[in-house]
Amino acid sequence: MQENEEALYRQAVPYLLDWYDANARILPWREEKNAYHTWISEIMLQQTRVEAVRGYYNRFLRELPDIPSLCKAPTEQLLKLWEGLGYYSRVRNLQKAANIVCEKYGGVLPSDYEQLKTLPGIGTYTAGAIASIAYDAAVPAVDGNVLRVMKRISGSRDDITRESVKKALFSTLQSVIPTDRPGDFNQAVMDLGAGICVPNAEPHCKECPVMHLCKTFREGTWREIPYKPALKKRRVEQRTVLVIKCQGRYLLHKRADNGLLAGLWEIPAVPEKMDEKKAIAQAQELLLQLPFKKNASPLFKKVDKLPDAKHIFSHVEWRMSGYLLTAPKEASALPEQIAADYALVDLETIRTRYSLPSAFSAYLKEIKRLEENAQGAQEKKGNDQ
Ligand code: SF4
Repeated sequence: MQENEEALYRQAVPYLLDWYDANARILPWREEKNAYHTWISEIMLQQTRVEAVRGYYNRFLRELPDIPSLCKAPTEQLLKLWEGLGYYSRVRNLQKAANIVCEKYGGVLPSDYEQLKTLPGIGTYTAGAIASIAYDAAVPAVDGNVLRVMKRISGSRDDITRESVKKALFSTLQSVIPTDRPGDFNQAVMDLGAGICVPNAEPHCKECPVMHLCKTFREGTWREIPYKPALKKRRVEQRTVLVIKCQGRYLLHKRADNGLLAGLWEIPAVPEKMDEKKAIAQAQELLLQLPFKKNASPLFKKVDKLPDAKHIFSHVEWRMSGYLLTAPKEASALPEQIAADYALVDLETIRTRYSLPSAFSAYLKEIKRLEENAQGAQEKKGNDQ
């Protein structure tokens, strides 16, 4: 089977390259050959759509235009630049790898595929993409898109979630990849997978340059190929989000340095669904661990139920309910860094200096709406006087 696949892929190469010459996507990271640009874009594109990445990519490059500037960037700046992209370990690994590149390779990403793979956050796909696109090395870059396109061309029903299948495709493509245009070949397959041989919908076979070679097209089996076994069901976790407001500032909590959303700031939340009474007791207990005025009684002068929200991670789904708990005036004379892992900050500071994971975006939106309402009421009062 592998021999047949190899012969078929070899036949496909010139059609893919001609198609790429006429149809390559215009993307900011393709404007010049630059390994740093390829690296940043490939890391951002993991789990994120091209359209969503454009803005992040341009901003990142504006603030951190090269590897030495990435080495020096403070963690808060990095997290802010990544805010909304999710999977924050990616940006932490970028910086770890940049430090190694500066120490070991004089600030220039190595061109060797094996050396690239030793850097944090750079796996076989990313190493292949950087080596081939930026340095013209004849190395395939095999990700889910490439697996889908190639397995459809050959009509193979191999389970593409298996590492052995991915490795076998890598080795087949290695003997097929054109040595004069390896980066273009990899990008041709990426672009075909993004726009023509699309996932989760009928592929646009009539526009495909390899339709005449494609077994999946001939047999009409695009729904079955690529084959993946059914996914395990996501674990559902209930959470109660406590939006604690104190004189125009909000309490934020820094998560532990390991596990989900490690080391990121969040709106305090407890891992269970609570009614109002329990949420108040929980928030009260939390504030009493912090230097809030112990004799301020009641600790909350107002409690409002906020809308429910949900957030889906790869293996977990958070179903959240939320409360806005407003502390009385007396509890307000506190510093921003109220404790090692708690901060009390206004909305503008959250926007500019704290990067909240998108899991909390529904509640951040609520905070913005409440602030706008409060500002509107203030202005009306001023006009009425
Ligand atoms: S012919 Fe259709 S199924 Fe085959 S590679 Fe092209 S788009 Fe995909």
